[in-house]
Amino acid sequence: MEVEKPLMVVLGGGESGVGAALLAKAKGYDVFLSDKSLLQESYRQILQQQAIPFEEGQHTEERILRASEVVKSPGIPEKAPLIQKLRSQNIPVISEIELAARYTKARLVGITGSNGKTTTTLLTYHLLKTAGLNVGLAGNIGDSFARQVLENSFDYYVLELSSFQLDDMIQTRINVAILLNITPDHLDRYEYQFQNYVESKFRILQNMTPADTFIYYAENPAISETLPVKKPVSRLLPISLIDTPKPGAYLKDGLLVINDGHQTFEVAQADLPLKGKHNAINILAATLAAQSVGIQPDALRRGLLTFQNAAHRLEPAGEIRGVQFINDSKATNVDSVYYALESITTPIVWIAGGLDKGNEYDQLAPLVREKVKALICLGKDNRKLISYFSDRVPTLFETQDVNEAVAKGLALANPGDTVLLSPACASFDLFRNYEDRGNQFKEAVKRIMNDE
Ligand code: ADP
Repeated sequence: MEVEKPLMVVLGGGESGVGAALLAKAKGYDVFLSDKSLLQESYRQILQQQAIPFEEGQHTEERILRASEVVKSPGIPEKAPLIQKLRSQNIPVISEIELAARYTKARLVGITGSNGKTTTTLLTYHLLKTAGLNVGLAGNIGDSFARQVLENSFDYYVLELSSFQLDDMIQTRINVAILLNITPDHLDRYEYQFQNYVESKFRILQNMTPADTFIYYAENPAISETLPVKKPVSRLLPISLIDTPKPGAYLKDGLLVINDGHQTFEVAQADLPLKGKHNAINILAATLAAQSVGIQPDALRRGLLTFQNAAHRLEPAGEIRGVQFINDSKATNVDSVYYALESITTPIVWIAGGLDKGNEYDQLAPLVREKVKALICLGKDNRKLISYFSDRVPTLFETQDVNEAVAKGLALANPGDTVLLSPACASFDLFRNYEDRGNQFKEAVKRIMNDE
């Protein structure tokens, strides 16, 4: 008689859902994938090739409620009626990270925060890889963790973890965790309670042991207030821009000093490709993580010097008549714009705007007064920016056309100035996404460069 296999239902058929379905099937589950929207053709083909049953455009509750366990994709909110029903019937709901972690013995370096995750994850991965470790990159970036676990056998994984992925992470033990900052974001998914979002971020340390390492930015108020309440048992390595913690890491007079309790590594930030205070935090965090898995100073230095960040994060976009253009399209909230303005030392023509996310601009006012000579509002609805900044910047201009924004930026700038696209807003009013916005900005700059 054939024994019935347990049923793993996967909700959501994007990268993480399809990865989870493949892994669950390989591990002996009956799998059913259900997505309320249509799947991408490439994912549809993978599921068909692997004979994994799926549905799209609907959730068939009757079938889903037969699951022994459910993997929920990060895009599905907790308040969705189907998730509520699963909870009420005590059917366990886990994230794809949780599933994948069950099937690997690799050491996990997990990185979370409201801003800086991708930069820090890529840098940490680069440091480990440059040092010759057998390391994979996964999570909220690139291929899903589940798919990587299925197809590779890495000794280490560097994982970018969003709060949504942390929410359904239950037993996963992170060996080296980084918490960069917690500032308001995604509050629509957390009942508009900042504390709920803070709790979600802190899940990263829930299963850590004294053998593990927790790296955190000590001057972020939400982190410093919550950490004592959590009573972490792991080793603690703080990062500071004010104090000089040892062990820990800090920036003092342009020098980055990193000490994991065993050795000290120092490097001048001016020698490295990542600029700005926010990137100092990211570098300190990534280097502490690399140091605490045993990477030696020469390899750390090599890795730091050869790192290339992903596009759209303070990315140089060209120079025209002595004016620098910088693409920071990924800056979709106010905190990230703060750090962008802070990192630039020349007068700035600032291009901002897009879909407002409930922004409060007070945090930016002093920097804008000090550095911004003109504001170009690029968006469908610029009312909020205009009402806040019209009395605070010498010149203000409005447009819905990225080419016009760039041309106007050039016209308003003097040689030695910087034209900075750092929107503080989402991009979906005029663009497909932030990458599209950044690419169109870069193309507009290139077009003028070619015409010169
Ligand atoms: P995430 O993956 O968390 O969105 P990214 O590394 O893609 O983070 O950076 C997004 C934006 O956030 C960048 O444009 C940058 O200006 C800003 N940023 C990067 N690191 C930090 C940090 N440590 N603190 C605050 N803002 C940051």
